[in-house]
Amino acid sequence: MIFRFLYEVFPVSPEREEMLCKPNLSLFPNASVIDGRWFWGFECQDGWYDLLNNALSLVCARCDIAPDCEQVIVEEVKEKFGGLRIYYRGGDDYVKGVFNLAETMSVNICAICGSRVGNRRMHYHHPRCDLHYEC
Ligand SMILES: [Zn+2]
Repeated sequence: MIFRFLYEVFPVSPEREEMLCKPNLSLFPNASVIDGRWFWGFECQDGWYDLLNNALSLVCARCDIAPDCEQVIVEEVKEKFGGLRIYYRGGDDYVKGVFNLAETMSVNICAICGSRVGNRRMHYHHPRCDLHYEC
């Protein structure tokens, strides 16, 4: 119950949602424009924005330039057991490596602000920096 409450309080902001989706639309065929902004439905918070932005850019570029890389379709992006999870179809070993690194790094990045988190410190299954630990 508390987990759900926290999740609903801190979704990816609409601005960030659009910045993740719009440049990488080939990865998100189900994305749509809602209230004038691109929306897809990232189920995590803003702290992982840089991580997701870089991973998605690399994967989108890979699909464009590598002839043997099957087009990636991202199916779900969420937080599970305190870490980022990216579920997708397609891709190749490069894509797998990029998404694996993003998922692995997420446990040391505050899900709210993006600051470094040491020792996999968790608060209701969310990695949190000292500032956000009590939120
Ligand atoms: Zn923080």
